[in-house]
Amino acid sequence: MIRKGDLVALADDEGGRTLLRAEGGVQKHKGVGLLAGERLVGLPWGGALEHGSKRFRLLRPSIRDVTLGLARKAQIVLPKDASRILFECDIKAGSRVVEAGIGSGALTSALAWAVAPSGKVTTYELREDFLQWARANLDASGLSPFVETKQGDITQGIAERDLDAVVLDMPNPWDAVAHAKKALRGDGHFCAYSPLVSQVEQTHKALREHGFIDVRTLEIIERTWAVQERGSRPDHEMLGHTAWLTFARNAL
Ligand code: SAH
Repeated sequence: MIRKGDLVALADDEGGRTLLRAEGGVQKHKGVGLLAGERLVGLPWGGALEHGSKRFRLLRPSIRDVTLGLARKAQIVLPKDASRILFECDIKAGSRVVEAGIGSGALTSALAWAVAPSGKVTTYELREDFLQWARANLDASGLSPFVETKQGDITQGIAERDLDAVVLDMPNPWDAVAHAKKALRGDGHFCAYSPLVSQVEQTHKALREHGFIDVRTLEIIERTWAVQERGSRPDHEMLGHTAWLTFARNAL
């Protein structure tokens, strides 16, 4: 049963999602209209809610729902890339990760979801407005307890030590490689998310100069399909490019 204060994803028949808390009075929710959060209390997970002319299913939000549902201020790291970052960097419950920068907090949310309940993500971010924006997103999804935010330039240094992973989504990740080297555990993971191939080349050079091993870059290409009784085919439109993912392992 849904309890008071739970975060609930209202799923419509077209794959749309609205995330809201099962508490409080009537409020306007995008895609849903006017609804009192407290109306959800006591309903079963997976159950249906008839509201207006629509029917919604009540789901526990997945990390995909959280990532795609958050309020965006900058280009976010999408599930296709975030999921691979978690896998390649072996980020799991208890992991200690440093990240830069926070942007809207999409990648931060995926990292926090993976390290919870015993790990921690520390995010360095230059801009106070992004920090505030992303913190509001993390508060809304309940992931804030696993995230520490620091206003600062990661190219000026990383205070943490013995980290499991350093994950960078910023224009000049190569300028943070020396700091990542010092901050990582002996065999820790490095990742840079870079939209431009010139960034990839500079990052490889810095990683090699600092003795990282397994330096490699990959691109995730995702194609969704329209599956129908009369025949199935790939969707007409495809997201052509997000970024390259560069991974490496620290070595002593
Ligand atoms: N990964 C984020 C998007 C990050 S956008 C998401 O999924 O939502 C890149 C962010 O890096 C911006 O917020 C920018 O202000 C920040 N940034 C750029 N250079 C930085 C640096 N040297 N140190 C810390 N943050 C930096």
